[in-house]
Amino acid sequence: MFRIGYGNDLHRLEAGRPLILGGVSIASEAGAVGHSDADCLTHAVTDAILGALALGDIGAHFSDRDERWRGADSFVFLRHTVGLMREKGFRVVNVDSTVSLERPKLRPHIDAIRARLAAALEVSVDCVSVKAKTGEKVDAVGRGEAVRTEAVVLLESV
Ligand code: MG
Repeated sequence: MFRIGYGNDLHRLEAGRPLILGGVSIASEAGAVGHSDADCLTHAVTDAILGALALGDIGAHFSDRDERWRGADSFVFLRHTVGLMREKGFRVVNVDSTVSLERPKLRPHIDAIRARLAAALEVSVDCVSVKAKTGEKVDAVGRGEAVRTEAVVLLESV
């Protein structure tokens, strides 16, 4: 049996904050604001897996009011979710994702991000797609005020 899931996320950007996407730290003037490490891409991928399994959303599992998750490494959320997926008898077939960010350019970081996500998802790197877009200088992304992510995941029962 196959299950498909979709996740998205948006985080506000603020000067002096770290920017972490897919578990990779990216040098940037502005970083994402959030309760955890604000890893917007990992949140979207986690939500996509939860969605495929109809297990609710990331906020239901890892509340942003829970002090345990203040500054947390979002890979803790992703790995926990992969564990739930395994318990349900599924594995990841592939992930496709898009990061919308005005700057910096993500291209030099894409392969590192894919490798980190693939390891956490227990798949080979060619099963993980990460695409990068800008906001064409319009909307919150285009004005450099936010980072937005979307992810689609296909799961297969094992
Ligand atoms: Mg988030």
